[in-house]
Amino acid sequence: MKAIFLGPPGAGKGTQAKMLAADQSVPHISTGDMLREAVAKKTPTGLKAKSYMDAGELVPNDVIIAVVLERLQADDCKRGYLLDGFPRSIEQAKALDGKNQSPDVVVYFDVDEETVVERLSKRRTCKRCGAIYHLTYMPPKQEGKCDKCGGELFHRSDDQPEAIRERLRVYRKETAELVDYYRGAGVLTEIPASGDVEEIHQGVVKALGLGGESDS
Ligand code: ADP
Ligand code: AMP
Repeated sequence: MKAIFLGPPGAGKGTQAKMLAADQSVPHISTGDMLREAVAKKTPTGLKAKSYMDAGELVPNDVIIAVVLERLQADDCKRGYLLDGFPRSIEQAKALDGKNQSPDVVVYFDVDEETVVERLSKRRTCKRCGAIYHLTYMPPKQEGKCDKCGGELFHRSDDQPEAIRERLRVYRKETAELVDYYRGAGVLTEIPASGDVEEIHQGVVKALGLGGESDS
């Protein structure tokens, strides 16, 4: 199944995608993770992307679309994938459609901005394995250290107040219209995403038709 997780930054897409990918052995393709890795390795893509990411802006479409379309050609994507953080604009969605990669299902994480700001400002990310923590809701056992791999946890530079504000502005302007785009295509499922992680996981499992439960 080709699935997309859509929603504002901080909605919990990465957290849920990682849980699901572990359960279902489906590749979790996070464009944010791919770009951060490219920046760390100073690849040509990383060098182009860095200043946009630091400012909370979208990386130019031609750069990110090329990265994603190449990734989707890999063998592990033949049986489906979970896209997290892409598409973020109508042009990106059309790039998928144009390559026969239209999603079977789009899960929209519906959450208010106040919740998202609170989540982002206390997010911590593992430098080594990318695991996601929250200082209040999902704290690591040992301060500053990843429970899974012992890697160092860091506060993303784009999780600072000014970049958060900019990312939300960009989301409203460029990305939010994808909700209607995919609703129109008949593939959108909305889930309330302000509850706790396990509750949302159940919602995602159901939205993707993996739960085995009937609707009513
Ligand atoms: P996104 O990938 O949508 O940007 P993340 O999955 O990185 O969002 O989550 C953003 C922050 O919110 C992280 O600190 C994460 O630990 C926390 N978080 C995720 N889901 C929940 C939840 N249901 N309740 C509370 N905090 C959450
Ligand atoms: P994320 O980890 O999804 O919050 O993404 C972090 C940053 O990477 C974003 O603020 C953008 O600068 C960049 N980025 C990730 N995905 C995309 C995309 N689909 N289009 C443009 N920029 C992206």
